[in-house]
Amino acid sequence: CGIFGYANYGIPVSQHAILRTLLTGLRRLEYRGYDSAGLALDGASIDDQTVETLIQSSLTKPRSLSNHVGIAHTRWATHGAPSVINSHPHVSDADAQFVVVHNGIITNFKPLKEMLLSKGYHFDSETDTEVIAKLLKYLYETVREPDARLTFPRLVMHLMHAIDGAYALLLRSTAYPNELVACKVGSPLVLGLKPATHEEIIKEGSKANFFFSSDASALVEHTDKVVYFEDNDIAHISNEGELQMFNFGDPATRAITSNRSIA
Ligand code: GLU
Repeated sequence: CGIFGYANYGIPVSQHAILRTLLTGLRRLEYRGYDSAGLALDGASIDDQTVETLIQSSLTKPRSLSNHVGIAHTRWATHGAPSVINSHPHVSDADAQFVVVHNGIITNFKPLKEMLLSKGYHFDSETDTEVIAKLLKYLYETVREPDARLTFPRLVMHLMHAIDGAYALLLRSTAYPNELVACKVGSPLVLGLKPATHEEIIKEGSKANFFFSSDASALVEHTDKVVYFEDNDIAHISNEGELQMFNFGDPATRAITSNRSIA
C-alpha cells in the first residue's frame, strides 16, 4: 500500500538516522491504510504488525546495519491474510539474496509460483509478492546476457517481462551490494533527490541522498526535487551512488520537477 526507500552514499549518517527516516516515511504513508509494516536495512529485515511496534522492535533489537540502503513497506493485503509471515519485505531464500517490497498485485503469480515450486523453491507466505523475490533469484541463476555481465537493472528488466499486473517495487540484493533498483507499472512511485551540499562534497567527498516513495507528500521534509516514474521505468542506483534511469532496456531521461507545488 505504501513503499518508502532511502539510499545514502558517501555522507556519514548513523544507522539510527536512516531507520528514523524510513520509519517517518512509513508514518507519512499510513493515511493510505495498512495491515502490517516491515523494512529491510542492509542484511537485516524486520516484519511487524504496525508501524508503532515496528519502531519499537527496530530500535530495540540489535541489528548489524553496515550500509546505507533501506527499503520499507506498509501492506494493504491483497493475497494472503494480514500477518507477520505475509508482511513485506519478502526474500528469495534463507540468505535473503534478493529482497523486495511491493505495492500492487501480480496477477500471474500462480503459474509463476507453480513453475518456481517445480524448480525446488520453497515459499513461506501466501502473498503474490513472494514470487518476485524467488523469480529474481531464478533469473539471476539462469539468464545469461550475450556480451555483458547481467547488471541489476537488466535483471529487473527480465523480471518485468515475466510478471503481469500492477506494481511499484524496491529491490536490493547481496549479489549487487549497496545497489538499489526501483521500478513500476501501474502503481505510483516517486523519486526524491537531495544532492550533497557544496560543503559536504568538499569536506566529506559526499554524493547524494535518494528517497523513493509511493507518494510525493512523504518526501516534502527531505527535498523538493522529485522525479515521477513512468510505467516501465527502472531507476538504478549504483554502489557508487550514481543514478541511472531506464525504460525497460533503454536509457531514459526524466525531468526533475519541484515538489513544492503539490506539497
Ligand atoms: N499484493 C501484495 C500483498 O498482498 C502487496 C499489497 C500492497 O500493495 O500493500 O502482499
